[in-house]
Amino acid sequence: MDRKAATIAASAGVGTDPGHKSLTPPLVASDTFVWNDPDTKPDYDYARTVQPNRDALADALAELEGAAGGAVTGSGQSAALLALLQLPGGATVIAPHDCYGGTYRLLQGLEGKGLLRAIFVDQGDDAAYAKALEREPALVWLETPSNPLLRVVDIADRAGRARAAGALTIADNTLATPVRQQPLKLGCDYVLHSTTKAINGHSDLFGGILLCAEAASAEQVHWWANAAGLNGSAHDAHATLRGLRTLPLRVAQAEASAGRIAHFLAEDERVAAVHYPGLDGFPGADIAARQQSGPGFMLSFRVRGGLEAAGRFVAALRLVKLASSLGGFSTLICRPATMTHRGMPPEAQAEAGIDPDLLRLSVGIEDADDLIADLERGLAAV
Ligand code: PLP
Repeated sequence: MDRKAATIAASAGVGTDPGHKSLTPPLVASDTFVWNDPDTKPDYDYARTVQPNRDALADALAELEGAAGGAVTGSGQSAALLALLQLPGGATVIAPHDCYGGTYRLLQGLEGKGLLRAIFVDQGDDAAYAKALEREPALVWLETPSNPLLRVVDIADRAGRARAAGALTIADNTLATPVRQQPLKLGCDYVLHSTTKAINGHSDLFGGILLCAEAASAEQVHWWANAAGLNGSAHDAHATLRGLRTLPLRVAQAEASAGRIAHFLAEDERVAAVHYPGLDGFPGADIAARQQSGPGFMLSFRVRGGLEAAGRFVAALRLVKLASSLGGFSTLICRPATMTHRGMPPEAQAEAGIDPDLLRLSVGIEDADDLIADLERGLAAV
């Protein structure tokens, strides 16, 4: 029987230290390891190639996602680059038109150098997705729920159709986290996380991981991570594993608050729109209910009165901070158009529905009553 997420997170690497028998895996800061003789390579030789703290984190995340293995990288973006390094030169990649701005920037940058061809498409549109698949992509890039509009696509359907068209599928699972969604179990070949976000959860480091359904792909991913030097540091892996231990608890608390906040905003006439997969009638709420074990801690919304009202709303907040990250202990608000998604040109933002006055909220683990009181302060100012 599969172990439950809370058990995997709490017990990862516990009691595995062969040296001092420490309860938690020790931080192994050394960049290199001692050989017995020059002909017998030890399991750990050089820390760019292989490193015990990265292994402990990769094992825990692989078990949470149901992966054969994967590589811990220095950031979410280096995990994205590592994924793209698996493709043949000049390959076509189908990505969501409303993907994370950094993903958009990376794909566009590589396309500008002639290294790949990027097709951005509304993956919720059946006909548009089918048409894009006719262009013989090597990879379909999914991001569901998407950042910042929380759009949900049917992973099993999209991955199945990609496979039938000869394409591999990767899912950026950063927003859902493995405690709410496991894309490999729904037919994806790769899953990517920015562990900077909820997995670490403490807003004090950068990290990423690329996980693979197949052991052979995991081997290739390790080869490239070492060859290109994309692996993350021992210190970050050690701290991320500590953060991971409380991921299920933090997601549960933040998600419960996000649900209350989404309803609070949706019922207020000063609010023009709320995007949250846990709201009845939200497009994709039914798919989210099927493939996610909860609607998550992220939402976005627009207040009535446009950009100026949005500015007044943000300026009035005291507890919620204006900052562009997500998934941490602290509730953060941002205006994606000028913050997280500024790597996406205004035309592409407009096409994706990322309006200039859209506000994105990453709900943290503060008390929901205090968060709602702060948001009420914002609404009073619009
Ligand atoms: N994927 C998503 C959905 C993100 O929101 C982010 C960062 O905001 C990334 C990937 C990139 O991660 P990192 O900032 O760790 O490079």
